[in-house]
Amino acid sequence: MIQIAIDGPAGAGKSTVAKALAKALKINYLDTGAMYRALAYAVINKGISISDREKVESALDDICMSISYVDGTQYVFVDGIDTAPYIRTPEISMAASSIGTIPMARIKLVELQRETASKFDIIMDGRDIGTYVIPDAKLKFYITASSRERAIRRSRDLERAGMTVDIDEVEKDIIRRDEQDMNREFAPLRCADDAIYLDTTEMSAEEVLEFAIKKVKEVYGNEIL
Ligand code: C5P
Repeated sequence: MIQIAIDGPAGAGKSTVAKALAKALKINYLDTGAMYRALAYAVINKGISISDREKVESALDDICMSISYVDGTQYVFVDGIDTAPYIRTPEISMAASSIGTIPMARIKLVELQRETASKFDIIMDGRDIGTYVIPDAKLKFYITASSRERAIRRSRDLERAGMTVDIDEVEKDIIRRDEQDMNREFAPLRCADDAIYLDTTEMSAEEVLEFAIKKVKEVYGNEIL
C-alpha cells in the first residue's frame, strides 16, 4: 500500500503538491484540513460556539461525516450536504484550527482518516499525519515557507475565489493559526523525526513537485511513475 504523509503550516503549498502527486500516481488525495473545516462548519450551523467545548463535544455524535471520491476529487459530506462551497472562508479557517484543539473532535476525524487510508493507496496532508494519523507511512514530508510567502500564496488563492484580501491580515491569521496548531496539547503540528523537511520559500510549485517525485521514486522505485 502507498501511504504518503504531508504536514506543515497553513498556506505552505501542501495541497498543491499533494494533488499533483496523487494525479501522477493515480491514487486518492485526502485533504484532512477540509475535514476540520467541515466539522467546524457543521458545529457553527447548529448554533454552537466553537469555544464552548462541552457543547461541541456533545454535538459530535450527531454529526455524520463521510468522504467520497468522484473522478479523483474528494467530497466531504456532513449530514448529507457537500461542504465544499462553505468552508474556504477566513472565519472557517480559524474555527477549524480552534475545533482542532478539542481531542474528542480530532479522534472522530482521525478514525475516518485511518479508515480511508486502510481502503486505498493514499496521500494525506494536514498537521499530524506523519506524527499521529499514519505514523508508519513510508514517505513523509514536512513542507513549510516563510509566513510572508505563505500569506502571498494564500491571498492569491482567496483572490482567485473572488474574495478581497489584505495580505497583512492574511499573514496575521496564518501566524495565529500556526501558533494554535503548534501549541495544542493533543497531536500538535510538528515535523516527524523521519520526515523530509522542505522549506519552499524560494521554490516554485514545479520545483517542489519535481523534488517530491524524486523522493517517491527513491522510496517506491522508478517504475511507480
Ligand atoms: O489545511 P487547512 O488550512 O485547510 O486546515 C485548517 C485547520 O484545520 C488547520 O489550521 C488546523 O488547525 C486544522 N487541521 C488539523 N489537523 C489536520 C488538518 C487540519 O488540526 N490534520
